[in-house]
Amino acid sequence: MSFIEMDHIRKQFGNLEVLKDVTLHVDEGEVVSIIGPSGSGKSTFLRCLCQLETIDGGTITVDGDVMVSQPEGSRRSVYAPPAQVRAICRRMGMCFQHFNLFPHMTVLDNILEAPRIVKGMKTEDIMPTAEELLKKVGLWEKRDEYPSRLSGGQQQRVAIARALAMNPDIMLFDEPTSALDPELTGEVLRTIKQLADEEMTMIIVTHEMAFAKEVADRVIFMADGLIQEEGTPQQVFENPQNERTKSFLKSML
Ligand code: ADP
Ligand code: MG
Repeated sequence: MSFIEMDHIRKQFGNLEVLKDVTLHVDEGEVVSIIGPSGSGKSTFLRCLCQLETIDGGTITVDGDVMVSQPEGSRRSVYAPPAQVRAICRRMGMCFQHFNLFPHMTVLDNILEAPRIVKGMKTEDIMPTAEELLKKVGLWEKRDEYPSRLSGGQQQRVAIARALAMNPDIMLFDEPTSALDPELTGEVLRTIKQLADEEMTMIIVTHEMAFAKEVADRVIFMADGLIQEEGTPQQVFENPQNERTKSFLKSML
């Protein structure tokens, strides 16, 4: 059994079928990159995994725990009890394109907030982790600054540290560098690469093809709500089989 198993995921917004039948299994420590044209359902797929969206059909299991399943013969998926769903989602950290830091809190308070509120931890008990994480992303000296005083790259590194403060087993990234000026993407990508080297399980939606090639164990090409092609970075980038993958990769050059 894989660490994350998403089987036959279906999702509609009104009459729009955004995910038609998407199956993805991810092993512990594996890094999967999802690429594909805008509007193909990449963000929705990530959001379904961490429960920012509900699914209409399919099943999701994390580390053997069922979050949502579709009973035989039923047309819709059924969620596990809320406490179980919450417990599973707490194992995931998420970073978005727009960093969504709390603007009225310092960098340090941004890191401390979730462990304080969600886990009920005391500040003094979180501080060692907060310090370690801010040092890891190179921003310990900025701990008393407000987000608006940081560059986009620094803000995104704070957002990554904030997600890590909850000690997740899985990190989900949705185009973490697409809101950044080109010269600031490198520092964020290096931070994510470091997580990959530490064997964090990650799913990364990205437009950075060179980065996907470097960091991913497996690359998924999604279009029209379906996985059209998948393989190692070498297979997908150097020898794509599907015509849509070929034309997408050409358009990214
Ligand atoms: P991608 O991340 O690949 O660009 P998205 O998952 O964001 O694609 O969107 C897939 C499709 O679903 C798009 O057509 C988008 O407009 C639509 N969509 C996404 N979220 C919603 C929503 N909350 N309500 C209605 N339509 C949505
Ligand atoms: Mg998206």
